[in-house]
This record gives sequence, structure tokens and C-alpha cells, in this order.
Amino acid sequence: MSTKDVMKLYDEYVMQTYTRVPFVIAKAKGSIVEDAGGKKYLDFFPGWAVSGVGHCNDRVVKAICKQAQNLIHVSNNYYSELQGTLAKKIIEHSFPGKVFFANSGAEANEGACKLARKYGHEKDRFEIITMQNSFHGRTLAMIAATGQDKVKTGFKPLPRGFVHVPFGDINALTQAISEKTIAIMLELIQCEGGINIASRDYITKIRKICNEKDIVLIFDEVQTGMGRTGAMFCYQNYGVEPDVMTLAKSLGGGVPIGAIVANSKFQNVLTPGTHASTFGGGPLVSAAALGVFEAIEEGNLIINAVAQGEYLLKQLKVLKQKYSTLIKEIRAMALIIGVELGIEGDGIYKKCMEEGLLINCTQKNVLRIMPALTVTKKEIDKAIAILEKIFGAIL
Ligand SMILES: *Cc1c(COP(=O)(O)O)cnc(C)c1O
Repeated sequence: MSTKDVMKLYDEYVMQTYTRVPFVIAKAKGSIVEDAGGKKYLDFFPGWAVSGVGHCNDRVVKAICKQAQNLIHVSNNYYSELQGTLAKKIIEHSFPGKVFFANSGAEANEGACKLARKYGHEKDRFEIITMQNSFHGRTLAMIAATGQDKVKTGFKPLPRGFVHVPFGDINALTQAISEKTIAIMLELIQCEGGINIASRDYITKIRKICNEKDIVLIFDEVQTGMGRTGAMFCYQNYGVEPDVMTLAKSLGGGVPIGAIVANSKFQNVLTPGTHASTFGGGPLVSAAALGVFEAIEEGNLIINAVAQGEYLLKQLKVLKQKYSTLIKEIRAMALIIGVELGIEGDGIYKKCMEEGLLINCTQKNVLRIMPALTVTKKEIDKAIAILEKIFGAIL
């Protein structure tokens, strides 16, 4: 089918909830995607960070194909080996506790908030503090949790009980805490928010406050999890453990999955009948996620993420020196990179696409560059050459 025909189908039958670029992805492998006409692109923002181990990673493909022939779905009133095995895997890589499986980031975050509410309800503590500029998903409760007005417009009244404070401001956070506060939920790196990286000092202080006041500390690692920051989970770079961590995006290597990981103190707060999901943690997605872990561990992808992240950052810094009027600041942790521009970034990311490089632009002027953990030096050189060409043409 041609790009035009596919777009016509969408025009007629798909709800227009996304700003889409006129571009049909027909197939993909690793960091390379191909459009309907067979033109190849370098994908440095694979699936909004979902394809962290690269598109159609061999281990993930193999795990899915094998599992699909054996058992695709089991309801959660029965047991299946793979859900248990995946939960064990996640716990072995994080902290002692237990896992609940959902199907998306929003659902995982909403479940984490339910967990916190349940923990606090006998003492009438229900308020959850989140950050300005955060992003936690699109369900009604999660747009209430998200600290950006644009996601809330038109949907009021929203669920009550969320309070927003400026990201990085420990005094504002302390002042917002009341006897009603039950949880603090935040991203260690605000990705949608423009690649804002929390400081170690800030996170350490939040942990201390949560300990003192018996507040549940929730890290939303939906975008930062699974090796991208140079550790399996971003909190490990901070030496600060959360009480609850949420995962989604790259956990399934492309299939829909979400997870709530609660430490031993909170692992039994949600009891039979209090939370559920029909699809959550089914054998097919669990097999895929185990394939992702295998790909990361056996492929030494975290080591590669650190090395290539360093190299990419170095090359971007060279560009920054050359085009200092265009590039204001670069913020990075391994393979999460934000290039803040002095101009609007929309045109640049569109030109990148024309030149065969897929990246993202968030908060109007931050280029978001998050290649797969399998990215190579050669691919980075190619991407940098494209960026250089575009910056050069603007000046
Ligand atoms: C993408 C994202 C979500 C929402 O995930 P969905 O799977 O789209 O519901 C929540 N939090 C963060 C940090 C995200 O990046």
C-alpha cells in the first residue's frame, strides 16, 4: 500500500488524536527503519523509547515466536511460569519486593497511586505530590498527576488529590507536604518535560523526607528504565532506592507491558480483589520481556549504552561549539540526550527526517535523541553528519 493510501485509511477510520508526520514505517531492524517506498532511515528515537534493544531484536523475536506457538494468554486466576520468572528477573535487578503487571505506563503509574492511596486510607492520607513539567500518562487520574496544563484542557473535573511542585526545588516540596500527603511521584529524568535531570542531592533529600514522614516514594521509570541511562534502572545511578518503581516502554521490546515494582515494605498493600488486569503479565509479553533482559545481559548492552552515549555526547559538544548560537545546552545521561536549542526545533527535526534521521523534539526547543542500546559508532557518525549538515544550512 502506498503512503497516500495508508493515510487515507487513517483519515477515514482512525481517531485523529496524534499529530502524525506523513510517513509510513513498513519494517525495521535494529536502528534502521524502512518506509513504504523502501527508503531507509536511521532511527534515533525508536518507538518513543520502546524499542530500547533495537527494532525486532533477534532475541525478542525468537522469544515471541516460540511462545506464540505454545500459549498466548492465560487469565490471572491461573498461574503461568513466565509471569513468575519475569517478576523474579525484575526483582533480581532492582530491590527485594514484588511486581504487579499492567499493560502501559499510565496504567502502571495509576496502579502505583492506588497502592499509595490504599496504604494511607485508614489515616485519611491520600494526597500525591508530583512535579511541574512531569508526564505520567493519559488516563484521567494520570493527567491529573501530570504537571502540564496542556494534557488537562477539556477534561475537567479531574480526580482530586494531586499537588504539583517545581522540579528540583526541595523547599517547595517540603512546604507542599501536609498530614494528607501519602506519596511523592517523580521521574528522575523528565523526558517529555525536556530532558531535565534531577540532581543526586535532590533525590537523596526526598528519600530522607519520605523515610521520616512515612511517605511512599514512587519513581516513574517508564522511559528511563531498562539500561538506557547506563544502569538497568535510572535510580541506580543515584544510589537512592524508591519504595515503588513503575516500568513500561522498553520493558517489552515492543509489545505492550507495564509493571509496578514495590519493595518489601509495600509489596502486600494491594490484596486480592483490590487491583487487577485481564491482560497483565500474560505469557506472550512476559516471554518478550525476558527476551529483552536476555538481550541486555548477553549483548552487554548497558556497557554499549555508556560507551556510545559518551561518544554521541562528545560529538554533539563539538557541534555545540561550532553552532553555539543554535545550541544552548546539552543535557545527557548515557543514551538519554536533550539538545536545547536557541530556536524552535520543529523545523530541525522535520529536516532530519528528510535527510534520513528520526529524532524527536519536545517542549518546542529540545531535540530528544534516544537511540537504541544497540547503536553503533558508525550510526552515530552518520547521525552527527546529518545534524551538522542541517545546522550548517541554517547558519
Ligand atoms: C510514556 C510515559 C508514560 C505513559 O506511558 P503509556 O504507555 O503511554 O501509558 C508515563 N510516564 C512516563 C515517564 C512516560 O515516558
